[in-house]
Amino acid sequence: MTDKVVVITGGSRGIGRATAIAAASRGFRVVVGYASNLAAANEVVSIIEAKNGKAIAVKCDVGNEHDILALFKAADEFGTLGALVNNAGIVGPTSRVDEMSAERIQRMMAVNVTGSILCAREAVKRMSTRHGGKGGVIVNLSSVASKLGSPSTYVDYAASKGAIDSFTIGLGHEVAGEGIRVAAIRPGLIDTEIHASGGEPDRAQRLSHMVPMKRVGTADEIANAVVWLISDEASYVTSAILDVSGGR
Ligand code: NAP
Repeated sequence: MTDKVVVITGGSRGIGRATAIAAASRGFRVVVGYASNLAAANEVVSIIEAKNGKAIAVKCDVGNEHDILALFKAADEFGTLGALVNNAGIVGPTSRVDEMSAERIQRMMAVNVTGSILCAREAVKRMSTRHGGKGGVIVNLSSVASKLGSPSTYVDYAASKGAIDSFTIGLGHEVAGEGIRVAAIRPGLIDTEIHASGGEPDRAQRLSHMVPMKRVGTADEIANAVVWLISDEASYVTSAILDVSGGR
């Protein structure tokens, strides 16, 4: 158990929601970031508080640096930062590259890549022993798309997750001597609303036959891996990428 603060971007729904609830059950004070769905974020806070945990909801579009600075300011007022989960991520509608607009690609990279790097910057400033911090953990949500490339679906998304893999390795090495561990999880097909936001609500179920385990995963199965990585049980794990994908 810990009483440190964990910042979870996109903590209002899906994998972030499950991670927020799981982290609170291990004693973390949870900052639930959300982009626009205040009701969903408040529900996560209520669930945590009903179990005597501590949580706050903070609006933060990670595509906006000003929002990120406000998110970490709120976290500072809530306690000592011990972990960041870079969970917020978006997909676009199914599309070939030769059909993609510059605006779509720029937004994809702004949210999935720049947002994660800026959040990590703020976390390192607070957790690194180089800056007087006490150490901590950063977990980035990548995707098996970084290996598969997602042809004719969303190559831009896959490329953004490839960037997250490289970022995880590099930042992990950069801060390994400063008390900070950095890891990524590559989920496979997980049953959340992200598929509906890409215009294909049944995508995960439809493709489940391609998973060696022949089923989609749950948000809780990803959350369990995240809370292990942010715990001391993973104390020798850094610059590591863990596939949680049913073998995909
Ligand atoms: P989801 O169900 O669509 O939930 C997305 C969450 O992120 C929501 O809390 C949403 O907030 C928030 N969000 C969306 N855009 C944001 C932005 N610009 N700034 C900050 N927060 C934002 O997604 P999910 O399936 O849980 O995915 C979570 C992460 O896992 C993503 O990085 C995704 O790429 C990765 N992943 C998912 C799967 C999968 O199959 N589900 C597979 C591989 C990787 P609001 O509630 O306010 O909208």
